[in-house]
Amino acid sequence: MPHPLTAPLTRGPAHAEQRFTCRVERIVQATPDIRILWLQPEGGKRFAFSAGQYARVSFGGREERDYSLAGRPSEPLLEFHIRNMRGGPSLYVNTHLQEGATAEVRGPFGTTYLRGESSAPILAVGGGSGLAPMKSIVEEALAQGMSQPIHLYFGARAEGDVYLEEHFAALTARYPNFRFIPVLSAPSGRTQRRTGLVTDAIAADFTELSGFSAYLAGPPPMVEAARTVLPRLGLESGAIHADPFIGEAERYRREGPK
Ligand SMILES: Cc1cc2nc3c(=O)[nH]c(=O)nc-3n(C[C@H](O)[C@H](O)[C@H](O)COP(=O)(O)OP(=O)(O)OC[C@H]3O[C@@H](n4cnc5c(N)ncnc54)[C@H](O)[C@@H]3O)c2cc1C
Repeated sequence: MPHPLTAPLTRGPAHAEQRFTCRVERIVQATPDIRILWLQPEGGKRFAFSAGQYARVSFGGREERDYSLAGRPSEPLLEFHIRNMRGGPSLYVNTHLQEGATAEVRGPFGTTYLRGESSAPILAVGGGSGLAPMKSIVEEALAQGMSQPIHLYFGARAEGDVYLEEHFAALTARYPNFRFIPVLSAPSGRTQRRTGLVTDAIAADFTELSGFSAYLAGPPPMVEAARTVLPRLGLESGAIHADPFIGEAERYRREGPK
């Protein structure tokens, strides 16, 4: 079996590859480093995907990058959360992209999508902008009436990196089976929040994860740590679905040109 970081791109469930030109409808600065974008596909077309998948997006004719879809598949606008990596297209998106601009979107890709037929408790873990596909997964699960426990852990560095908290608090109030747990890895001062590595917080909260389904997205070190910690708690490796956000330079080194 190929190593998860070197596995070739997979199409996931039965969605043919689509290519859409979109209009950037709305941009919100969610944290100092993350912008949330909503894209409107040309002609009001619907981009078919499963919750948790990602697309390849080019902004302003720049190189494509992979970005996870953060909304539910039935929503008319495509939502993306794009973190400023201080170089490449993500810098452009965070400093120059404006509402009204166009973007080319193709996909969907990825096998980290919600298994809607499963009644297993769900452990969703997002680091940084890895919250995006986890948002899609938990929102779709809740909207579909999935009633098993759903735990969303969000690994952020400091207080200012926590976003969408009110949004998830509203979901927590509405759905008793849903929990949202932000964990700060590098708080800048005293805090009431959980602190440390998000994987350590999970290990502190659970003694047994056998029978759970886990979905992971975010920085490769976080995903790798979770792949080590979760099986120790009894989670079957086949029940772990992960999309590490490997950067383009690393992808090229591992896979060669697209
Ligand atoms: C399946 C998948 C889904 C993804 N979803 C999202 C998403 O929803 N939101 C999002 O913001 N990003 C996501 N990414 C990451 C994204 O595709 C880019 O790799 C990332 O934005 C950096 O690309 P860039 O073009 O901005 O920078 P590049 O031109 O690739 O590099 C610019 C600088 O950033 C550094 N860098 C690049 N990637 C990383 C990294 N992962 N960690 C640390 N430093 C890095 C480079 O070394 C360089 O210094 C995803 C990646 C994958 C594989």
